[in-house]
Amino acid sequence: MADLRAILEKLSNEFGPSGHEKAVRALIRAEIEGLADRLEVDAMGNLIAYKAGLGPEPRLKVMVSAHMDEVGFMVLQVEKSGLLRFARVGGVDSRMLLAKRVVVGDDRTPGVIGIKPPHLTRGNEHDRIPDIEDLAIDIGSENDRGVEAKVKVGDYGTFATRFAVLSDDPAWPTVRGKAFDDRVGCTALIGLLQERYPVDLVAVFTVQEEVGLRGARVAGYRVAPDAAIALEGTICDDTPKEPDEDVSPVTRLGAGPAITLMDRSLVSHPGLVRLLQDAAAAEGIPIQYKQPALGGTDSGAIHLTREGVPAVTVAVPCRYIHSPASILNLNDLTNTVRLVAAALKRVERRYLEREA
Ligand SMILES: [Zn+2]
Repeated sequence: MADLRAILEKLSNEFGPSGHEKAVRALIRAEIEGLADRLEVDAMGNLIAYKAGLGPEPRLKVMVSAHMDEVGFMVLQVEKSGLLRFARVGGVDSRMLLAKRVVVGDDRTPGVIGIKPPHLTRGNEHDRIPDIEDLAIDIGSENDRGVEAKVKVGDYGTFATRFAVLSDDPAWPTVRGKAFDDRVGCTALIGLLQERYPVDLVAVFTVQEEVGLRGARVAGYRVAPDAAIALEGTICDDTPKEPDEDVSPVTRLGAGPAITLMDRSLVSHPGLVRLLQDAAAAEGIPIQYKQPALGGTDSGAIHLTREGVPAVTVAVPCRYIHSPASILNLNDLTNTVRLVAAALKRVERRYLEREA
């Protein structure tokens, strides 16, 4: 298998909020050039890699997707003071933003989202989370003239977190980084492209998932697949709770790829769920089910294209997604690649049929 950790490190450190995925796309393109028969970039910026199957024609066409974009912010105003007022891009809330180091613009200008020191808070101010309108990015400029050469209105920002290995233990290899949602899915998809399958594989690295599954919608139409699998980095809430509280975690770190049965965007195709269960059982790969039925993924857009597409989502559990730093277990990533590869090797038309 390719060095997935090295690929994840590069992708996690790269800059790519929704609508500004070009640096991530260039990086992925360099990784998969030579692995696909043909590459295309569509009008939205989706990167589409075609890899013909080894089986006899007519072959099934399976679209496997992962989104390149991450949550972040966009500069809306440069104040006379040199402070940058900004809007959120995707689901990032004020709790995530306070006192965080960020980079802004194509020169990756470093800055910090400022916050009043505790000495100056008044009344119950220290108990409240400020509105995003009251926050600003400070790039250390004397005034707005100092900002001009570095940052302009419309520029994007992301968290400044660098990738780090937290545990080298092969039984529990954990890493930390930003944008694991969904650079871990992109990494898994690059891993899948190392092999050729009986079916035609169309690997799609999508744009603008975090602002409403937008890239996947048009990519699904263009590819017109027989089945679709979205690869994700998903919510993981397995850290200790109150001792006797009966709370099931959404997913658990290290417990294998998480299969979505239903979320707010999709009821997964039962045949594809069965396919993944069969593949996991045959290969001895641990799996878990994401619950409860929260969130949405690119599958939600793809399964509604044309006359409808059987679709399912498989995800790597990531603690603290949509924050400056997430943690994941690399064994979940490896097992996600193994699971989807095994599914691509055994998928047949019978898995895609609906019972009468
Ligand atoms: Zn995602």
